[in-house]
Amino acid sequence: MLGEETRSGRPHLFGMRPTDLAAFLRERGVVCTDAEARRLQAHVVSHGRDDLATIARPVPKRMREAIDAMLDRAPLELVDRVRDEDDGFVKYLFRHPDGALTEAVRIPLHQPGRFTLCLSSQVGCAMKCVFCATGKLGLTRNLRAWEMVAAFCAVRDDLARERPDARISGAVFMGQGEPFHNYDEVIRAAQVLSDPCGGRITQEAITISTVGLVPQILRYAREGHAFRLIVSLTSAIPEKRVRLLPVAGRFAMDDLVAALREVHTAIGKRVTVAWVLMGGVNHGDDEIEALRARFSDLPLRVNLIDLNRWAEDEDGMRRATDDERHELVAKLHAMGIATQRRYSGGRNKHAACGMLAAQHAESMPQPPPEAPFYGDS
Ligand code: SF4
Repeated sequence: MLGEETRSGRPHLFGMRPTDLAAFLRERGVVCTDAEARRLQAHVVSHGRDDLATIARPVPKRMREAIDAMLDRAPLELVDRVRDEDDGFVKYLFRHPDGALTEAVRIPLHQPGRFTLCLSSQVGCAMKCVFCATGKLGLTRNLRAWEMVAAFCAVRDDLARERPDARISGAVFMGQGEPFHNYDEVIRAAQVLSDPCGGRITQEAITISTVGLVPQILRYAREGHAFRLIVSLTSAIPEKRVRLLPVAGRFAMDDLVAALREVHTAIGKRVTVAWVLMGGVNHGDDEIEALRARFSDLPLRVNLIDLNRWAEDEDGMRRATDDERHELVAKLHAMGIATQRRYSGGRNKHAACGMLAAQHAESMPQPPPEAPFYGDS
């Protein structure tokens, strides 16, 4: 469960929380205290050190030998790293043990020396959102938790070499893939990243984004996670939303609204929805009326995201003008809906929202011919 897709075939340490590691070793007859498991995880995952013999407070030799024999801790292969000089976004390309390629994007935050990391959760994506290059790839496979954590560790270590004073203080699951289509592994990765002996990011600084898979949103709300959740709404009109986000056809809009209401009850604050803004498509009075009809009792924050240039070039859609966006924002504010414009950077290096993986698709393992379009995870 924890270790498929490694080159060795052994479970990978990066996909484990300290409690998982202790349980794994004990089940195999290796004595391991919780404190020893935490020290080992902190040494390898938090500090990025591979040599177990250099751990500050040594752990018994039998444990080190067991870990060497039973677990994998190989890093992901970093094959490319490109920086967008306009905005400082850095895109990393990784090759996974099966040859799959995924990307992660290091995003500078306003606070100097602080970055967040946009992580992929799948190889490709099954959701086919019309404005997204990744959606054109189809789904090849889910990523394992260890692969997401390994991507984080590789970028963190690269940043430490470049700028020892800087740190990655957040993570967003908004790269390739629909995180809730790979629910268990994404939640596990988020738990490792937020563990004090793992990635050491606070839970509130980890964002999981979903296109709106209702069963998983309900599960997430009921499990009571403290990560931040963003649900892509993009249109409040069911027929239009299905055209833009085809998977929306699987769920009634009323069910999505009810799920968001559960999220609101669980988190006790505004529910954040993403809105990919397309000129002439989803900023008119029809959207305002639909929002008023369905969402008037649900406190919302709308994150406005500009359509990426790729979709403009390839599919003839266009970005909203400043006037169109300002008009929408004014109407949302009049309804009491908070808004935030999210910058989608890295465009010059194909690192912006919806642009990941398109450039390398030809060299990747291809999706199976009958890859499922959608399946509950
Ligand atoms: S926007 Fe997200 S969910 Fe939609 S196709 Fe792209 S990667 Fe998949």
